[in-house]
Amino acid sequence: MPQSLGGSDTPDNLALACHRCNERHYNFTVGSDPQTQKQFPLFNPRQQQWSEHFIWTKDGIKILGTTPTGRATCNRLDLNDEHGDEPSIQIARIFGYKLVGIHPSLMRDPRET
Ligand SMILES: [Zn+2]
Repeated sequence: MPQSLGGSDTPDNLALACHRCNERHYNFTVGSDPQTQKQFPLFNPRQQQWSEHFIWTKDGIKILGTTPTGRATCNRLDLNDEHGDEPSIQIARIFGYKLVGIHPSLMRDPRET
């Protein structure tokens, strides 16, 4: 719960996030699922498991929501950097996955088979 909506600043209400995600999350608590055009709660890393809502594409470049919450979160936070002109997040993932071999789907996160 964002502080602007009455949430506290105690550790149990905080989540570590990069500047980009924090900015896009803003004080939204719901997002639009592109599949149904309905609003769903955004993923809560304090209460939910990443692997139950998201999967990496086989090439490790995109994150796909596998549930309404996952899709709404991908859309709201633009996790695949598809809302702008240059998909720099995808370029960074290509670099990490193919060139450096450091990528969440190579360590722990589920990936398309
Ligand atoms: Zn981020």
